[in-house]
Amino acid sequence: MGNNILYIEDNPDNMMLVKRALEAHGYILLQAMNGLDGVATAEDQEVDLILLDINLPDIDGYEVARRIRNSGKTRLAYVPIIAVTANALKGDAEKALNAGCDVYMSKPINIRELWARVEAFVPSPMTKD
Ligand code: MN
Repeated sequence: MGNNILYIEDNPDNMMLVKRALEAHGYILLQAMNGLDGVATAEDQEVDLILLDINLPDIDGYEVARRIRNSGKTRLAYVPIIAVTANALKGDAEKALNAGCDVYMSKPINIRELWARVEAFVPSPMTKD
């Protein structure tokens, strides 16, 4: 198993925060700034986990999750997807899970929670024996 994390996020500040946090633990961050680019990157690159913003400039994160799950590539049927969103409305978590996400995290991003959630799926290369 590799340690490539794809983050689909249109906010550069969040992107930089997550990039620094994950690279500090030895992960490699692949970046997509909109939904369509995110789906294409998931299909074209080796991706071990996806962090997915919900509010994106083109298609929303729910649609991104559905397209990834339905892409026909076996590994994308199983790749872990963590939804990350500012939508605190009740029902959003359920919507994310119904779209194919495994876990739901709310913004603002808490770095310790991020590490814990990512490591639950993809062990940090720096803590592997
Ligand atoms: Mn956004």
